[in-house]
Amino acid sequence: MNREAYEAVIGLEVHTHLLTRSKLFCGCSTTFGAAPNANVCPICMGMPGVLPVLNRRVVELAIRTGLAAHCEITPYSIFDRKSYFYPDLPKGYQISQYETPICKGGYIDLPANGNGEPRRVRLTRIHIEEDAGKNIHGDSASLVDFNRSGVPLIEIVSEPDLRSAEDAGAYLRQLRAILRYVDASDGKMEEGSFRCDCNVSVRKRGAKEYGVRTEIKNLNSFRFVEDAIEYEVGRQIEIVESGGRVPQETLLWDPARKETRPMRSKEYANDYRYFPEPDLPPLVIPRAMVDEVRATMPELPADRRARYVREGLTDYEAGVLTADREVADYFEATLPGLKNRKSAANWVMTEVLRVAHDSGKALSDAVPPASEVGALLLMIEEQKISLNAAKTAFAAMVKSGKSAATTISELGLAQVSDEGAIAAACEKVLAAEPEKVAEYRAGRDKLFGFFVGAVMKALGGKANPKVINDTLRKKLAS
Ligand SMILES: [Zn+2]
Repeated sequence: MNREAYEAVIGLEVHTHLLTRSKLFCGCSTTFGAAPNANVCPICMGMPGVLPVLNRRVVELAIRTGLAAHCEITPYSIFDRKSYFYPDLPKGYQISQYETPICKGGYIDLPANGNGEPRRVRLTRIHIEEDAGKNIHGDSASLVDFNRSGVPLIEIVSEPDLRSAEDAGAYLRQLRAILRYVDASDGKMEEGSFRCDCNVSVRKRGAKEYGVRTEIKNLNSFRFVEDAIEYEVGRQIEIVESGGRVPQETLLWDPARKETRPMRSKEYANDYRYFPEPDLPPLVIPRAMVDEVRATMPELPADRRARYVREGLTDYEAGVLTADREVADYFEATLPGLKNRKSAANWVMTEVLRVAHDSGKALSDAVPPASEVGALLLMIEEQKISLNAAKTAFAAMVKSGKSAATTISELGLAQVSDEGAIAAACEKVLAAEPEKVAEYRAGRDKLFGFFVGAVMKALGGKANPKVINDTLRKKLAS
């Protein structure tokens, strides 16, 4: 199989829950993990005769996402009914947006790839819709939990601008970062609040026309998305190479067997009998509302990345630190008073992220407050402690929750920078080793390290090495 002769064409549809307290059309709670059917009412249970009322916060969060992705905000849109039957959809239709999505166009810029090329992925649309309930299939019966029924979602649809599984992964990470930056979504994949459908086709490299595409449904981890696309691209190339035709169908990814398998033949828009939702008035978004939302927008990941690079960090460092807003905020909170941003960046990327990662907890629960890490870094800068002492102190602070100053003093980690004490120790060492001093003065430079080691030992390993070096050089030269 000549994989190089082909190009993958990938577009993604991401569904993400919005961070609202109540559902899209009723006042029920959106809290995850409640007892089955605890968060329900006649509206989200789809009882006849009830009337939906649109949640204003959903509209604001959709606009925030749209502005972050450079979309055009639609001033006048309507909701549509998307009809299909399934036990987790008691109304027999889902309220969605079809011809008039709340956001149109737009794009997302990805961090530069391995070749240093920036990539721009165009968006088709972002629309608002309600989630369905959840079927739970047991051995003797199937049950339905309607807690998720009516939870607000936005669907973010990209143009087919992605060309590899790796690109798709980068796009999803960037999109998730944006959603978290603007507080639209927590992006928690393990709770199903960020899921992705992938449209995949292949074509001969250089061809203009698209091949037949398949849709892989409901992927809820970055790894599954990358693995599923990788597999599906290979499968389609094999079919085309052997003279076959890729059937247009909807697939499921089986992560255990690492293969896609058919779910159903692809349905078309016609099958859903879209028509305007008669129970909701058109959604009118005045210019002033967009401006109001725009005024509250935070700095976005791409802007923050660019700023960090301007301030002296590398692309890589800026990329790691801005991938998550919490990490970027933490990094910045260590900075006040510090001269060296780079050492702070390093510290956060290694010590802080390692501890957070190993603990499996959220950053704020896993590591000491950023101001305390900043205090440690300042002590290094002022040569009050060594780098190694700072690492020892940090590990202790993670366990004890005590402040940097208390930890350094309790563990006796402060560095001796007192020039008088260091000079006295130097003199003692030199006086005890007259032969080595003579050899050094005769040209055996290597002995310098021996003297430094001896002085350091005499001071219990806590002396400032630079002061020792300077003092010894002066004394040996005289
Ligand atoms: Zn409800």
